[in-house]
Amino acid sequence: MDSNPSLWDVVVVGAGPIGGYAARMMAERGLNVLMLEEHLEIGKPFQCAGLVNPGAMKKVGLEHTILSDVFGARMYSPTGIEVKIGREGSVRTHVVCRKLFDEAVVRQGMQAGATLWLDSRPVDVEIDDQRVCLTVKRGDQIFNVESRLLVGADGAHSWVRRTLRMGRPKEMMIGFQIEVSGYIGESGYLDMYTGQDIAPGLFAWAIPNGRTHRIGVWSRPEDLGGRSCEQLVEYLMKDSQWSERFENCRENARFCGPLPCGLIQRPWKQRVLLLGDAAGLAKPTTGGGIGPGFEQVDLIIEDLCNAVNRNHLSEKNLKKVCKPIQSIRKRQDKSRALRNLFVTSCNDDELDSHFEIFSRPEVIDLINEEGDIEKPVPLGISLLRKVPDFRGLAFKAGIEMLKPR
Ligand SMILES: Cc1cc2nc3c(=O)[nH]c(=O)nc-3n(C[C@H](O)[C@H](O)[C@H](O)COP(=O)(O)OP(=O)(O)OC[C@H]3O[C@@H](n4cnc5c(N)ncnc54)[C@H](O)[C@@H]3O)c2cc1C
Repeated sequence: MDSNPSLWDVVVVGAGPIGGYAARMMAERGLNVLMLEEHLEIGKPFQCAGLVNPGAMKKVGLEHTILSDVFGARMYSPTGIEVKIGREGSVRTHVVCRKLFDEAVVRQGMQAGATLWLDSRPVDVEIDDQRVCLTVKRGDQIFNVESRLLVGADGAHSWVRRTLRMGRPKEMMIGFQIEVSGYIGESGYLDMYTGQDIAPGLFAWAIPNGRTHRIGVWSRPEDLGGRSCEQLVEYLMKDSQWSERFENCRENARFCGPLPCGLIQRPWKQRVLLLGDAAGLAKPTTGGGIGPGFEQVDLIIEDLCNAVNRNHLSEKNLKKVCKPIQSIRKRQDKSRALRNLFVTSCNDDELDSHFEIFSRPEVIDLINEEGDIEKPVPLGISLLRKVPDFRGLAFKAGIEMLKPR
């Protein structure tokens, strides 16, 4: 073991997109940052459909990682009612190569001055009033590393969160995805399939990805009824009413991973902060975690860097720094309640009747006008307020929104 500890302002565990973005933001503000990544390279293995919204893309300016643009979606009810939203030419979201994207975000952190240790992970941590002392395994060697602040950006199964007993995300979905060539889709549109047999409580997707498609499904474990997400994808592709679209598909790769959707109660602790998936930030409506992770960093970065500079990193001070992220929690809670009302708590008949209403031209106009993948709550509330057939649901929504959380 190297007995001279290396000294840093901040150690970030996890060089994924959120750890890389946070490292850049902190290094740009003059902090001395070390990123630890347990793998030998950045961005591998990845578990992601690759959707990055224009707002998040603007923050990093990595347009060269875009494989295709998505203008809208074709959404299908359990019996096959189609709702097509979006307008040709108006980009709703980008589909990126996650490996290139993650590498580039981390490179931006390094260009700003942060240091990256690959093949490195913490194996022990001690925290006192002045510092965080980490024992780090780097390759076969053990190092002592000291910092003022420890950031856990180490993903859904965060070592930092588990080791320091910081709680659990409200929902931990399971996602499974395969990459195929030969899917019959419509250029520029992603397809979403619903129904108990295909994606109980949520939806399956087919996302255009340059020359291939990403076919996946996500679900809450309690809704799976003993099936795996892999079996659901197989059902969609081989036995569902949509199987013809998949007849010529050839598989190139498969991935499975968790989606933590529900900010943990306290993503801070004395000298410790959790960011991104580690904090449970993925969206309950889509599972997207990159946009909310970037937003979390932006909301706290100035106060956080001031606190690090002044070494004011008590639990009380970090709680104050984290106050702005309560807005993300409120949005997550509302979007989860709306998701449950419109999709997750519905049986197939109810879903069909919702799709029948969604498919009316005036409702599609409303969705096109107000829909925003990043912020679905305003659209959900408008649907309840402005579409008379959703009045029953609006009443239920009132009760849902008033429930204590
Ligand atoms: C099937 C699926 C599809 C998805 N599709 C989308 C999508 O289309 N769009 C979207 O925005 N999000 C999507 N997500 C979610 C998205 O992948 C995550 O929200 C996002 O990657 C979170 O970034 P992060 O940096 O917080 O964590 P991660 O990307 O998980 O990065 C964490 C990093 O920490 C490293 N690490 C972990 N533990 C340690 C340790 N102990 N020591 C050192 N390093 C460690 C990991 O190797 C990794 O590099 C999807 C997820 C799944 C499962």
